[in-house]
Formats: sequence, structure tokens, C-alpha cells
Amino acid sequence: MAIYLEDSYVKDFEADITAATKNYVALDRTSFYPHSGVQPSDTGILINRNEKFNVLVVEVSNKEIVHITDRAGLSKGDKVHGCIDWDRRYKFMRSHTACHIRSAVIYRDTGAKITGNQIDLDRSRIDFNLENFERDLMRNYIEEANQIIEEDRPVRIKFTPLAEAIQIPDLMRLAIEMPEREETRIIEINGLDMQACGGTHVKRTGEVKKLLMVKTENKGKANRRIYFSLEG
Ligand SMILES: [Zn+2]
Repeated sequence: MAIYLEDSYVKDFEADITAATKNYVALDRTSFYPHSGVQPSDTGILINRNEKFNVLVVEVSNKEIVHITDRAGLSKGDKVHGCIDWDRRYKFMRSHTACHIRSAVIYRDTGAKITGNQIDLDRSRIDFNLENFERDLMRNYIEEANQIIEEDRPVRIKFTPLAEAIQIPDLMRLAIEMPEREETRIIEINGLDMQACGGTHVKRTGEVKKLLMVKTENKGKANRRIYFSLEG
């Protein structure tokens, strides 16, 4: 069970090991986010009987979340206490939510779709399909996004049956990987946007604090790239 899908704020948890091969460990429940094309994986530790194993990377393999530790030694049936590196995760939650806000503001004003994005610790980037790409215009979008952040709007997680979800216009605009479930996981920023998304986000836009534009690039005829970082 992926705990972060219901609650992204669970920093530590108890779990049973369901499979272990060398330093590859699967758990019956986990807070660790596995890396995707967009958001990097969590890191942290698994503790078994006072022995500590560092979790270096987490990934999905054969539909299962696999924790890759720095050494072997854990076995099926062992009980572990898991703890994620919260500073790292919280930064990703803030940056990921910022991506939603940023793209929703640009979409609202221009109809531009996202063609790619990448979240990272120092800076994140979003690619847009957008003809008009004046720097001043981009600064306006940053200001609009910061306005939404200042308004401290609630960010909610909802699970909706797929048949209902596909009725919602532009729900898949960000196209961030979805976990395999019968329901669609929707991230709603109050009064702004709803997106199908499997990532981790903050509960209120105010937690993002502030967006700072790092630089912009032209990546082809109508493909624009914006790099941004977060204050604090
Ligand atoms: Zn998301």
C-alpha cells in the first residue's frame, strides 16, 4: 500500500517485508515515493532490530514499490520502521504543487499545454507548447502564480471513479504518472485547477511560499521551457 497517495505528510511508519532479494526490499505498506519521470524518489532509512539500512532509491518494478538499500541483510517477514528524508520530500511536495499552480495559470491565460516537466531540489522546469514567449509575459505568470500561493488555497486529494474522471475537461493536462487503481486520483487546487496526478503535494498553496523564475529557453518552434526555484 502506498501511504503517500492518501497522505503525503506521513514521515515514518511500521511495515512488514513482503519480499527481499539482496538489497531490493518490498513492504506491505510504505511512505516512500518511487521515482517517476517527473518527481525523484524519496530517500531515507529502514530500521530492523536497531540495524539501520539506508534507502538510496525507490522505484516501481512489476507494479510493486521496491526500496533499494545500501546493503543486503533484510529478509521476508522482518518488521521494519521506515523513515523518509523529510526535508527532501517536503521540497518535492512544494515544487510539485508549484508546477500545478504555474501550469494552471498559464493554461488559464493562454490554453498552452504542458509538454514535459521535471522536479528537482535546486530548480524545476516546465515545458509548454506556446507561441508567444515574451519574458515580461512569463514574469506576469509567475506573479499570478505567487498570488495563488499567497491566497493559501486548500489543495485536496480526491479519488474518483474513472468513468466520472474522464468527463472532467483537461484533467490529464499534466499527465504525471498515475498509480494503477480503479479510481483516478485527482489533485484539486481550490477554485483553480483539477489534475489527475500520482505525485506528492502540499495541503495548502501557502506552503509553497514563493516561486522565483530562474530562466527561460526556447526549445523549438512552439516549445518553451521555464526553470523556477522556490524561496525558502
Ligand atoms: Zn501532481
